[in-house]
Amino acid sequence: MKKILVTRKLLKECEEKALKMFDANLNSNDELYSQNNVIKMSQGCDGILSSLTDKMDAETINKLPESIKIISNFAVGFGNIDLEAAKKRGIAVTNTPDVLTDATAEIGILLILGACRRVPEGIQGAKDCNWKWSADYLIGKQLTGARLGILGMGRIGQKIARIAKSLGMIVHYHNRSKLSPDKDNGATYHDTLKSLMSVSDVLSVCCPASNETINLINKETLEYLPKGAVVTNVARGDIVDDEALIDALERRKVYAVGLDVYKGEPNLNPGYLKYKQAFILPHLGSATKETRTAMANLAIDNIEEYFKTGNCKNKVN
Ligand code: NAP
Repeated sequence: MKKILVTRKLLKECEEKALKMFDANLNSNDELYSQNNVIKMSQGCDGILSSLTDKMDAETINKLPESIKIISNFAVGFGNIDLEAAKKRGIAVTNTPDVLTDATAEIGILLILGACRRVPEGIQGAKDCNWKWSADYLIGKQLTGARLGILGMGRIGQKIARIAKSLGMIVHYHNRSKLSPDKDNGATYHDTLKSLMSVSDVLSVCCPASNETINLINKETLEYLPKGAVVTNVARGDIVDDEALIDALERRKVYAVGLDVYKGEPNLNPGYLKYKQAFILPHLGSATKETRTAMANLAIDNIEEYFKTGNCKNKVN
């Protein structure tokens, strides 16, 4: 039986599945392992089931025992893993696409609604019982008829686009490559970020964090937005230059932000906390029972597939 290290606690039924299929070293206290601990604990293991909280940089990967053949990441994003370093060591890296698309798109839409309809202020007002209905109380931005710009029209971006379209939004997107008509669902393609942002009343960041996308939303690119645009990010914190976004909020260049992800999670730039126009969530994208179960099961199946066949359809390196 292959031996695996599971770095974070999984839902009970998924841990049971892991124990049935592997000699699995589980993390029942859900302790956050340091990089050194991951290296130590993976001695004698054939694979690691990692999560986005494990920083598998080149230094860590190079110190893993020879026996490690796969890192199965419990996420669709893999910005926490140095793919090249893993490849050089002959370690396969896999992810969990598709199964989390719907849940994450739901949060993507929630970010748009929360930011546009002034939900943080509304919640506070309701809790404080200090509000009075009036014709102009907490007037927000209506989604119907607004232009939604999707940066990264992949699985999650396309699902957000479909829901947004049903809400009456007019969808635009930017990817490095144009989608075929069966995938774009009538959305307008922009071959540059500048062109996309200039028509985005609401921006939804849905692309992966990569060397190309780090701080893509910055002082210069935020200026491409129409005045009073809304910026949401359901992808990764690394894509946004926080100081620039906070400055844009301060200048009212940006009307509101909706954020699920942050640089240096679980911390976030404290500058956001000064603004009632910041609708912020603690990385809830895939957090439903159905999705977290499906993700863990897929991460386990990826390891089995790799050891059975020498390959895996969800291999990313
Ligand atoms: P995906 O299907 O691979 O889609 C990514 C899209 O981004 C593709 O359309 C890709 O198109 C585009 N893209 C990549 N690099 C780009 C660049 N440099 N400039 C412009 N567009 C670029 O991935 P997904 O399943 O939708 O997931 C997207 C991301 O969401 C993940 O990487 C993850 O970080 C994040 N996520 C967050 C949560 C959460 O809990 N908040 C949950 C799940 C996923 P081209 O290749 O044509 O450029």
